[in-house]
Amino acid sequence: MTNEQLADLIFPNITKTIEDYEKIYPKRDLKEGAIVTRYAPSPTGFVHIGALLASFTGSIFAKQTNGVFYLRIEDTDTKRTVENGISKIIDGLNEFGVTFDEGPINETETIGNYGPYIQSERKEIYQAFVKHLIKQGKAYPCFCSQEEINNIRKEQELNKARIGYYGNYAKCRNLSNDEVARRIKNNEPYIIRLRSNGDYNKKIICHDEIRGDIVFPENDLDIVINKADGLPTYHFAHLVDDYLMRTTHIIRSDEWISSLPLHYQLFQMFGFKVPKYAHIAPLAKIDEQTNGMRKLSKRKDPECAMSFYHELGIPYEAVRIYLATITSSGFEEWYLQNPCNKIEDYKFQFKKIGKSPALFDVEKLKNISRNYISRLKANDLYENISLYLKQYDKEFYEIFTKNKDYSTNILNIEREQKKPRKDIGCYKDVKNEIWYMYDELFIDLNYKWQKINDISEIKLILKNYIDNYYNESDDKDTWFNKMKQLTNNLGYCSDMKEYKLNPTKYKGSIADISMVLRVALTTKDMTPDLYEIMKILGKNKIIERFNKI
Ligand code: GLU
Repeated sequence: MTNEQLADLIFPNITKTIEDYEKIYPKRDLKEGAIVTRYAPSPTGFVHIGALLASFTGSIFAKQTNGVFYLRIEDTDTKRTVENGISKIIDGLNEFGVTFDEGPINETETIGNYGPYIQSERKEIYQAFVKHLIKQGKAYPCFCSQEEINNIRKEQELNKARIGYYGNYAKCRNLSNDEVARRIKNNEPYIIRLRSNGDYNKKIICHDEIRGDIVFPENDLDIVINKADGLPTYHFAHLVDDYLMRTTHIIRSDEWISSLPLHYQLFQMFGFKVPKYAHIAPLAKIDEQTNGMRKLSKRKDPECAMSFYHELGIPYEAVRIYLATITSSGFEEWYLQNPCNKIEDYKFQFKKIGKSPALFDVEKLKNISRNYISRLKANDLYENISLYLKQYDKEFYEIFTKNKDYSTNILNIEREQKKPRKDIGCYKDVKNEIWYMYDELFIDLNYKWQKINDISEIKLILKNYIDNYYNESDDKDTWFNKMKQLTNNLGYCSDMKEYKLNPTKYKGSIADISMVLRVALTTKDMTPDLYEIMKILGKNKIIERFNKI
């Protein structure tokens, strides 16, 4: 029996050839240098920070080169599929600004001309490629049972040989076509393996865009390419899909680096141009117990799940800025100089992406978030906070949104200026920073009096101020001058230099007087600008608050 006949026996219904598929999925009409890349998750529905990093990186490179970024669902391992997994991935990434030009857009619809983008719907396409290999004698059916495979392994362990299905250990490699046909007709179960043409004692140089050239032994394993369920393994699907979808760059996590010699081999065995590869290092953290670096773990580390950022209320753009900061050298300096630019304005380069695991530090992320939030306009910030509170703090949401102008004014204190205020690191912080502005929450008070803490003196200062000095329509200079007059009239010193030289001549300074007002109005000893706070509270509220003391 010829190879051709064997191929027809195994795949009688596969009539299309590789050439047919090449016509259906022609070379993309894109400019020189355009990057076509993809994000290729299993439909587990779980978007984690590593997934965001990989997809964010891919989308940036595609966008910057006017290329294509597409989503491919790798569901050949049916055990990993969950209900609505595809939409969960799409929505989860979308929330963090990652969108696709092609691929599924929900559980049932797809856009793009290079589909299907769901691997389980591509069975026939893979089989056409497998059939092609069988015709050429470059693949063969393997009938080994799990038990036989285990025995091969035991033998290899005993001989201290490399583990795997290769060379003389590859039992089914040399079965005659007639023998194979007989066993297939006999309904013996089988899978299809690659007939590897690699020699483990020879070297192959593979290129990674981030790491440069890497030398490996050639692959001599006769890996499985088609499983018993008729679906391909990851390696074979990678070859077929990335070839037909005309991917130029495979951007994926570095757990796949060791598969490079095999992937080079697969493309070369078909005579296809090998795509470019860029392997992304994982995110890492300092382990609290050992103090050493370790990979972020989906199981152990809450910061792996995107829900972590939602619950804290860290703006998605801040997460993206942080990822760019820790993975791309040069980005942080650029961003400090161009804080108003978009991330996409930075020219990302593969060779500037880190080769080793990037340390992921939630505190640093919050700092980036703090800076980012400080640059938002009060109106936009109001909307973001409202959305956050609606989901996570209904009670404060009602209070915060009762009077939009009032809340926006609070957020606007020391904002939209050269050195804006940076008290909000994430939306979860907001209540803690501004609660005292709301009468509903101005209860059960714990005043943080400082130097002046005698209640009768405090009352005297407050009464004097409101009766003789406070005027709602005063501008800031007038307001401050009146504070000085109050200070002097009560025997305190309004000139800080003078006070430092002769502290004993006075009861205290203007700083002590304004602290009394600050604490009386907010209970806190540190707040944003007091003049602005008083303006927003208005005279009635000020009197009400003074009267509480
Ligand atoms: N489905 C593979 C994974 O989740 C994709 C790897 C790749 O991007 O090629 O690891």
